[in-house]
Amino acid sequence: MFNIRVAESAGFCFGVKRAINIVERELKRSKLVYTFGEIIHNRFEVDRLASMGVQVVNRVDDIKKGDVVVIRAHGIPFTEERQLKMKGARVVDATCPLVKDVQQRARMLRDEGYQVVVFGNREHPEVKAIVDYSYGSAIVVAGLEDVGVLGEFDKLGFISQTTKPMNDFISLIPMVFQHTKELRVFNTVCPATFQRQDEARKLAKWADVMIVVGGYNSSNTTNLALICKEVLSNTYHVESESDIDRRWFLEVSKVGVTAGASTPQWMINRVVKFLLDIGGKMGNG
Ligand code: SF4
Repeated sequence: MFNIRVAESAGFCFGVKRAINIVERELKRSKLVYTFGEIIHNRFEVDRLASMGVQVVNRVDDIKKGDVVVIRAHGIPFTEERQLKMKGARVVDATCPLVKDVQQRARMLRDEGYQVVVFGNREHPEVKAIVDYSYGSAIVVAGLEDVGVLGEFDKLGFISQTTKPMNDFISLIPMVFQHTKELRVFNTVCPATFQRQDEARKLAKWADVMIVVGGYNSSNTTNLALICKEVLSNTYHVESESDIDRRWFLEVSKVGVTAGASTPQWMINRVVKFLLDIGGKMGNG
């Protein structure tokens, strides 16, 4: 028998909820709705939407005049959005307002003559879009090593991918400053992400085992799992209840559950139900 605590912040953030609502609203108007890239990084939710008539496209060439195309929560490059509009598609922007804010700051900094530096994962769609908004000029740094080889600039603007850990972003600022005479920093880490990470860390300190639910391709879920693992080695990142091994819970009294911002509530419920079925009970213990 073990106690289960679920983080209050687990599951959809407001930006993801908003994007899903926009897709569902568009589905009421058209039988077929396209999303440019997966609307969120969760294959189960993407499958649910597909069963309702949502198709994922990844190339502008796959879109024709009159198609309804929803832009995913973490945005797309400016140039691709323009190409979609030029093709005559009806583009519905579900980019999270906080992601839009980073894109616009990247552009503004570039327009004002700053070399833009983005702390993030250069392969992540959000970061690719931010780079595009800086007219392709932004430099992406993944950590200390990349900052070390930045070069020298008169004016430098430093921003972060929204889902990066706040402490990591802040810790890089003094190092970035060594590469410029003037540094402008915008804290573009999403507060919902920060709150989720803070709560996950506290829950991992309480727990004997942490379960972090979310897509393996979800950046914020992966970061959550890493943060929990720093505190508790018995941390497991799962996509669904079928990834859970009962042996993780032998001689365990406290199990914490959290989930990424792109994890639907119904999936969290399935994981919790599984834990209840194998002997867990809700409570602080
Ligand atoms: S994690 Fe933050 S930035 Fe990303 S969609 Fe959610 S609210 Fe927006």
